[in-house]
Amino acid sequence: MNSKTADTETRLRFAPSPTGYLHIGSARTAFFNWLYAKKTGGKFILRIEDTDIKRHQEDTISTILDSLKWLEIGWDEGPDVGGDYGPYRQSERLGIYKDYAQKLLEEKKAYRCFCSQEQLREKREEALKINEFYKYDRRCFNLTENEISAKIKSGDKFSIRILIPQNKIISFNDNVYGYIKINSSNVDDFIILRSSGMPTYNFSAAVDDYLMKITHVIRGEDHLYNTPKQLIIYDALGFDYPDFTHLPMILAADGQKLSKRHGSISIESYREEGFLPEAVLNYIALLGWSYDEKTTIFSIDEMTEKFDLKSINKKASRFDYEKLLYLNGYYIRELDENRLEEILIHEITEKNENLRDKSDFLREKLGKIIPVTKKRVRTISDYEKAVLPFFNPVSYSDNTKKYFAKKDFDAKMLLEKSIKSLENLDDSSFTTENIENKLRTISANLGLEFKKVAEVIRIAIWGKPVSPPLFETIEILGSRTTLLRLKNYLDLISQA
Ligand code: GLU
Repeated sequence: MNSKTADTETRLRFAPSPTGYLHIGSARTAFFNWLYAKKTGGKFILRIEDTDIKRHQEDTISTILDSLKWLEIGWDEGPDVGGDYGPYRQSERLGIYKDYAQKLLEEKKAYRCFCSQEQLREKREEALKINEFYKYDRRCFNLTENEISAKIKSGDKFSIRILIPQNKIISFNDNVYGYIKINSSNVDDFIILRSSGMPTYNFSAAVDDYLMKITHVIRGEDHLYNTPKQLIIYDALGFDYPDFTHLPMILAADGQKLSKRHGSISIESYREEGFLPEAVLNYIALLGWSYDEKTTIFSIDEMTEKFDLKSINKKASRFDYEKLLYLNGYYIRELDENRLEEILIHEITEKNENLRDKSDFLREKLGKIIPVTKKRVRTISDYEKAVLPFFNPVSYSDNTKKYFAKKDFDAKMLLEKSIKSLENLDDSSFTTENIENKLRTISANLGLEFKKVAEVIRIAIWGKPVSPPLFETIEILGSRTTLLRLKNYLDLISQA
């Protein structure tokens, strides 16, 4: 019965349980659903599965929504935008689950279970002791109508269990894992509605996927063994099945399940670390999917065109942080320079209070800085740190102060000569070429390798032996700042 709903429009959903942040794996799930909806001209729906969440976890919903928005994964229907099949938060749909559970009770496809948690735990432990598969013993299924009425009358709490048909083959075709079948006798009469009135995941997911007319379910492979349970619900309620795709796990580089100890795993943290959403999206698209062996850079349009549920890899993918960094560097370089300027200004002003009201000055400088620096950059946060000496005074560490004390040349004299020579350039002639000429002349006159000259100047103007391209950097710093830094450093090493 693998047929779709009568409508031709594809409808896909992302259904997070808001228990924390948006994990990189969940972001991939959301993205693949979104991508497939886009590819097929369908709809992408956001459904919040929050029947388990506690009040203090409420803000995790906005964290997830913000992360999706940052990735520019937008939804056509969802809790904040509404839609024809809402509400889109399961906590607001409790009446619906109750009605369907009631319907199943009336049709004798489900039954009330009065067993206490304690009783059930004992049974489970007993089964565990003798190494046996635990299955609910159907004790409450065998209660008579009178016994049931009496228990209800005396206020006994009950949950509702689905009555699993015996010895029936439950099967479906998964786009990644292929044909999957299980014998229903291996499935426990699981609870569909708890005594608290809350549905269990397999019940609410099946009911909602049906009511929201979901045609394709794409989710993590950790749900692969939930699917038959949901199919049992579909069958009991007479619903058609959607098309299923389960996405293989994402492992860390060491082959273990990707977790916090491997570094950042939330979209939020990548955002904070200075990754661009397009790089993250491109990277997660490659986790488990590729249209050929070679291509690693895809635009959204290319991905939309090439993406195919059938070409998802069955093998678990490995998270490769270096590749993500590489892609991020690529996207930073490709970025329109005005946008990059704005992103950097935002980053710089957020992290440096003293520069907060200096956007015009920053913009003017960054216009020159970006073209000479963006080649080496891999993240926006690193970029912010790397360009900061253009704006903030440099400080010299103790090591830097003594850096040239024991060298085989006179750094002090070199600085004096450089200062004198650069002082001869007025503002209009303080250009990359003239600066290079002056410094190379000093190097030639002193018979000193240029490398050594450059090292002294770099430490003086940048505080460390590595800087963006030297002559360009000096030009951008400008004559006043350059001379000030050269003099400051000269003073310092004169005292050392
Ligand atoms: N709430 C489930 C989760 O976050 C959704 C699974 C599904 O897509 O059915 O894992």
